[in-house]
Amino acid sequence: MLFVCVGSGATGYAQTNKYVIFRDDDVAPNADFAELQAVNQVHIDKNVPVTLGIIPHPYPTPSGNQLLEVNHQFLDYMRSIDSNHLFQFAQHGNTHQNVAPSPQGPSEFYGRPYASQYDAIKQGRNDITQAFGVTPTSFLPPFDKSDNNTLKAAKALGFTEYCTAFADFNINQGYRDGIKIDTISIELGNNSLQSMENATEQWLNNDRSTDTFIVLYHPADFRGPDGAVNTAEVKLLGDYIDYLQGTGRVQFTTLDGSWTTTGNGAVASSSSQGATTVGATDAPNVGANSGDIGGLNGGLVGSAVFVVLAAILVFSLASILTIRLGKNKNRPKR
Ligand SMILES: [Zn+2]
Repeated sequence: MLFVCVGSGATGYAQTNKYVIFRDDDVAPNADFAELQAVNQVHIDKNVPVTLGIIPHPYPTPSGNQLLEVNHQFLDYMRSIDSNHLFQFAQHGNTHQNVAPSPQGPSEFYGRPYASQYDAIKQGRNDITQAFGVTPTSFLPPFDKSDNNTLKAAKALGFTEYCTAFADFNINQGYRDGIKIDTISIELGNNSLQSMENATEQWLNNDRSTDTFIVLYHPADFRGPDGAVNTAEVKLLGDYIDYLQGTGRVQFTTLDGSWTTTGNGAVASSSSQGATTVGATDAPNVGANSGDIGGLNGGLVGSAVFVVLAAILVFSLASILTIRLGKNKNRPKR
């Protein structure tokens, strides 16, 4: 256990600049509510942030702000978590309807005139701000399909991060027109724990891989065949987070980089909570990352010394034990 702490806390922290981002798409008044709560609870329990892709206007009617008007249970719940740093509120289209299909598949925006896209994105953004008091800065086009006008409109509306399929712009973890573009690395819903781990190992061990690994899921991925929450799938998410923490080589962050943790490691979690009071809570941006990191390092120094001393002690004991065991094993043979 001690070595896990060292890995996910002080030592791992200093060595890694790899980030895992969880992206939960289709968070909306018509989403599977119990499933949404269950997966969010995993993120709370593990102290691991997640970017919530909110669909502002999923129903044909009413024409007003559906986030406010159609599902008060959803509204109250989202308001109860909107100030929790673990949850980044992002915008996932406006209606999420396939009204502009592309040659490659469904899309809400592809090929629509700029003004039409701009108005739709603006309406959705304003609805999110009005309902939750949060102005989203990350835009996630539904169906991972968009075009140049979608990107331009998002940029014009003040979005600073954009996450879509690589094929849209042939960019991953790069900038275009001053907006950061990321792509999804893997979908949780289609995978076993083993295949998630294998894909993660490949990413971690490839020197040329990008810094960020984005894991996509939807509340509906956690719906069981009987209509109840699929607890095995919820456990898979928790187990995968445990695996990631156990590597000691990743940090967890959001698409806007506003909140970064090393998960539940005793040292890391207390430090990131300490940063809550110091950090720029009203100005989430990429720069806030380095602020958190500075605070984390300072808080870690004392604990790190203790952990390193403890590790040396355990190593020494383990060596002695290994030698003794080795001798005991060898003696009867000889
Ligand atoms: Zn979606």
